Amino acid sequence: MNSAPEDRAGALLTVDLAAVVENWRRLKQLAGKTDVGAVVKADAYGLGMAPIAGALLAAGCTTFYVAHLDEAVTLRAALGRTPRIVCMHGPTSGRTEPDFAAHAILPVLSTPDQIKAWRTFAARNNLLMDCFVQVDTGMQRLGLTEAEFSAHMNDPEAFVGLHPLALMSHLACADSPSHPLNKTQLARFTSALSTFRLKFGDARGSLANSAGLLLGAPYHFDFARPGIALYGSAPQNPGPDAKPWPLVPVVRLEARILQVRRVDAAAPVGYGATVLAPDGAKLATTSIGYADGLLRSAAKAAYGQLDGLRVPVIGRISMDLTTFDVSAVADSAARAGAFIELIGTKHTVDDLAREAGTVGYEILTALGARFHRRYLPAKR
Ligand SMILES: *Cc1c(COP(=O)(O)O)cnc(C)c1O
Repeated sequence: MNSAPEDRAGALLTVDLAAVVENWRRLKQLAGKTDVGAVVKADAYGLGMAPIAGALLAAGCTTFYVAHLDEAVTLRAALGRTPRIVCMHGPTSGRTEPDFAAHAILPVLSTPDQIKAWRTFAARNNLLMDCFVQVDTGMQRLGLTEAEFSAHMNDPEAFVGLHPLALMSHLACADSPSHPLNKTQLARFTSALSTFRLKFGDARGSLANSAGLLLGAPYHFDFARPGIALYGSAPQNPGPDAKPWPLVPVVRLEARILQVRRVDAAAPVGYGATVLAPDGAKLATTSIGYADGLLRSAAKAAYGQLDGLRVPVIGRISMDLTTFDVSAVADSAARAGAFIELIGTKHTVDDLAREAGTVGYEILTALGARFHRRYLPAKR
């Protein structure tokens, strides 16, 4: 094809790598001696794992966290041998341990089975195997239960051949700073870590995600695992107890206008004829829909920006198309080929999330594969 990809794409997604790096630096500054890593699971929250991790590695980030082994292996190939790569779901017991070892991926061991299988692998290969061990402190999601943790601590054979670098846990309510579960989890984790250190004197602690870092120094420990804040979405729920945190916006999403029409007499718009466009309204149909991650639930409240003005979505969001009311915008700007900005500095990921009744995480990870993606370099 001879045409440029940006001319063929229905929408443009611009990711500012310098902004990601700046967001990481700010967290690092906040956390002092803590190793502030980067969570780049789910393709770096939909924004592109390889370019984002590459920019952070160049900026000095040394620890990366993913969820799946496949993500870890892809990341290892992209980043080379230097950085620490932690796979938070750990091995599928008895099956994937050799792949972890071959690609130097650090597993998080969350179940007795995973610990046993990693121990068996270590014994079979006569190696001392590094790992993270996860303990559940109040989320009932992943990690050893309190009883399993004590049993392992009291069993002299439990960790033979293993070298746990860190004890890890995850906070359920860090986005709500005054939620009492934060302090409960902190107390449980602190106690588990001191028990753990009786056995493994040099073991580190890892508790905080982005929001956890904002809860204050007692939550920081040795390894922090921020994700969402790197990508420019607010880690804490807005409210009187939320810490104002300076984020640099990372994402810009613009959808191309395919057609502009004037409605002569009031007429329904889109599937289901749910909304009536008034007499004389000017409508712009753009090349973006729910298949691109623009959630249908955003239709009633979402708006874009065109020529410095707010233009609301009108009618339902279809799979590939979304119509905006651009009555307020001059014809010279509201024309086929122009772009309506859906995410940017004036209308953020979090604004769109609120309009769709969800969180920034879901907006970002839902971003589609059909966009033309542009990366603004970290050094420029
Ligand atoms: C996804 C995830 C993180 C990152 O959380 P953010 O809220 O995006 O900072 C950290 N730790 C674990 C265990 C996770 O699953």
